Amino acid sequence: MSARKTVKDTTSVCPECLAAIPASVVVKQEKIYLSKTCAQHGSFEDLYWSSKDLYDRASSYATRGAEPASRQTDSKNGCPRDCGLCPNHKNLTILAVMDITNLCNAKCPTCFASSDKKKEYVYEPSIEQIRLMLDSMAGDIHAMQLTGGEPTLRPDLHQIIYEAKLRDINHIELNTNGIVFASSRGTQLTKSLEGMFGDETLKKGLSTVYLKFNGFSPATWEATTGDPDWGNIPLRAVENIKKGYSDKRRSPGIMLVPTLINGLNTYEIGDIIRYAMRESYVIRGVNFQPVSFAGSMSTRDLERMRYTLSDLFMDVEEQTKGDIKAEDFFPISCVSPFAETVWYWKGRGMPSFACHPHCGSMTALFIHDDDFVPVSRYVDMDKFFVLLQKAATCFMEGKNTRGKINVIRALTGIKRKGIGPLLPLVKDVAGDVDNWTALGRLLLHMVFIGGMHFMDRYNFDLERVQMCPIHQILPDGSRVPFCTYQTIHRPFLERKFSVSVDEATKNRSAQQRIMPSLAPEMRIPPGV
Ligand code: SF4
Ligand code: SF4
Repeated sequence: MSARKTVKDTTSVCPECLAAIPASVVVKQEKIYLSKTCAQHGSFEDLYWSSKDLYDRASSYATRGAEPASRQTDSKNGCPRDCGLCPNHKNLTILAVMDITNLCNAKCPTCFASSDKKKEYVYEPSIEQIRLMLDSMAGDIHAMQLTGGEPTLRPDLHQIIYEAKLRDINHIELNTNGIVFASSRGTQLTKSLEGMFGDETLKKGLSTVYLKFNGFSPATWEATTGDPDWGNIPLRAVENIKKGYSDKRRSPGIMLVPTLINGLNTYEIGDIIRYAMRESYVIRGVNFQPVSFAGSMSTRDLERMRYTLSDLFMDVEEQTKGDIKAEDFFPISCVSPFAETVWYWKGRGMPSFACHPHCGSMTALFIHDDDFVPVSRYVDMDKFFVLLQKAATCFMEGKNTRGKINVIRALTGIKRKGIGPLLPLVKDVAGDVDNWTALGRLLLHMVFIGGMHFMDRYNFDLERVQMCPIHQILPDGSRVPFCTYQTIHRPFLERKFSVSVDEATKNRSAQQRIMPSLAPEMRIPPGV
């Protein structure tokens, strides 16, 4: 047996019975594994990060979470059975996830919501329930994702977005398989989402179309959607959204969301990034998601298909021929000093943006013509983060002048050489740190490449999930950390708030089940 060393002890779950069991994160042959033993079902080991060096580097950026605004449950049965949020949870809600239907027009075998399985019940909160759910979020949540199932199947989608905007949820994402956007109604749907607050205002309805985009080959389509003829759905969706797009500031941007399965579509990573760059007029980023496994897997299948964040960073480097390097990626929580600065200075956004450093990482690329360069080539990122953290602390203590000086020092640390035509935009931001329009303009020249590895029953790590800021919102107002919901609670909680298919059919006429007609009366009147 090869030498192994324990990196940390944590708690996981047994992949067979889902009981909470002790686990160790261990290093073996420069790779990181999660290892655990269930008294009833034996020992399990799963590859956690394929590079110890990249794991250690991510660990060095660990930050703390922030106190949630409210807790909805007591500590009774122990984590992860007390969700949530229970008094032990260590972070607030940054992104609220709301399933608005469990019905879907596709049957992807990799679906979190098991939309490939025949439905015995329908989970589809009514608009009245959704209003109550939104009320429970109002005040402390500013970003949400509408998902399912397939959320475009809801005839009242515009109404749901409108109700969320009424409660100051500024950033709204729509997580879609793209079928409706790829259809003949796709452009009209985009226009209606763009124009729902009227043409004269810059107020946005939908912020982001979170578009399933697993690659370009038929083998990828078949394995990830179950449909070898999935074909050009995502490409057509992007084209239709582009046609409906009239103003970058008001139109919903696109985030491509590829699910990555080791050896299946991982060779397409470079092509997906290059496609995003070509379409950067509408595509704001790519959020790669290494596959998380639902249900039980054989050890052999797990070893064959497991893909980790460090694999992603190394494949990005290889497939972009070093244009983006593994070290250009930083844990998502590195955004925290920026979020804190904005929050304490302007009272906008959110006071924290932390998640566990092993959950996700990202890099930002400056785009110019057909070329892109990671921001980290122009900035000493470590120094940048330290200066912004200092700025945040100054603003928090009311020392605004010192805060602004630290922001200017951070921005003027950007190397000018090579940044070319983007220099005036950077100068605008650095020259007038009160000018938020300039920052907005600069962001439109950037594309974000990131990865988040959602957990499953094999790599479940309670240390990570207790820090989770992505929370599923349920009809009783409870907030359940996303990976806990997917791994443990979904079957029970979804069933609890569902109705029978017959009842759902009675609740909604057959006509309503199809895509919204986008009739004028569905539009939100201008000026609201
Ligand atoms: S994941 Fe968070 S909310 Fe759920 S039981 Fe654990 S600490 Fe509590
Ligand atoms: S959803 Fe999962 S992977 Fe993402 S931050 Fe939460 S615990 Fe981490």
